Amino acid sequence: MTTSSFPARRGVLKAGIAGALSVPVLASAQSTFNWKMTSAYPKGSPFYMDGPGSATDLAKRIREMSGGKLNIQVFGAGELIPAFEGFDAVRAGTVEMNHANSYFWTGKTFAAQYFTAVPFGLNFQGVNGWLYDGGGIELWNEVYAPFGMVAMPCGNTGVQMTGWFKKEIKTVADLKGLKMRIPGLAGKVYASLGVDVKVLPGGEIFPALERGVIDAAEFVGPFQDRRLGLHKAAKNYYTTGWHESATVSELLINKAAWAKLPKELQAIVENAAAACNVISEGWCQKHNSEAMEDLIKNQGVIARPLPDAVIAALRTETTKVLAEAVAKDAMTKKVHDSYMAFKAKYDRWSEVSEEAYHLKVRG
Ligand code: CA
Repeated sequence: MTTSSFPARRGVLKAGIAGALSVPVLASAQSTFNWKMTSAYPKGSPFYMDGPGSATDLAKRIREMSGGKLNIQVFGAGELIPAFEGFDAVRAGTVEMNHANSYFWTGKTFAAQYFTAVPFGLNFQGVNGWLYDGGGIELWNEVYAPFGMVAMPCGNTGVQMTGWFKKEIKTVADLKGLKMRIPGLAGKVYASLGVDVKVLPGGEIFPALERGVIDAAEFVGPFQDRRLGLHKAAKNYYTTGWHESATVSELLINKAAWAKLPKELQAIVENAAAACNVISEGWCQKHNSEAMEDLIKNQGVIARPLPDAVIAALRTETTKVLAEAVAKDAMTKKVHDSYMAFKAKYDRWSEVSEEAYHLKVRG
């Protein structure tokens, strides 16, 4: 037995030597990449960090599709860097990727706002049309080129909710002096209508609302808001998500690191991110429909849209705030014009397709 199997083992050894000789040729194709990805959201956050289409799911899909050639270690907010330092960390190359929303970076470049959400903007279907096929992703990369980064969509919450109000909002005047947690561009719009805008991290919203430090708060949607317990602190839940009609999650990548990836690994990242974009939005639809039913049936929540006059006032102020931003920065104008031109066409198409179906056919 020993003697008869020996020649075969020698054969294996020979093949091994031959393989070793060809290592320089195969090296680039066989390299393993170990990357780090940070998030603006804490470890365990549903949708962002855990569950289908989340940051950890994205890393898992990339690892599996690449057969372990691209391994991405995922860090929640505060584990490696603070929540909102992803932009600087990816730019410096401290980490290769960050998973968050581009509107956190409007202080670096205002145009980043358009790749997350614009008040009165596109819905999930529309924003995907603009991003994937309407020049959106190309513009996103143009905006980040001076920073040495590339980006792509990797998730979406769908339409968010206007938020939780202790008192009913009947007129625009009811907004005056109201203390509300609302970040970003929407906060600017509310401020111009007299709202006293407060910016609080997710974890501080519930205690502030419960104690009356704030009178109103916006977070995400039924599932995420219920998880924070916001329905226990206020009962008026306004549904019309004028401020975030389809909030895009961003996969931000260091451009030099990206350039080092072989084409097939780049394709895997792009396809995994696109899969997570759809899968995460699907997850939101399921969980939000269940949570909304529970909030209304079992938690005494009154869900309704904002009055038309309030929506009209918010729309007017949004137009003014965006016009000011466009006047200040040429890149913002370029992105704004592309987004709005796409939206004008999409809105006309949507009227006779999706909206017509919902209003006239679905029942
Ligand atoms: Ca939000």
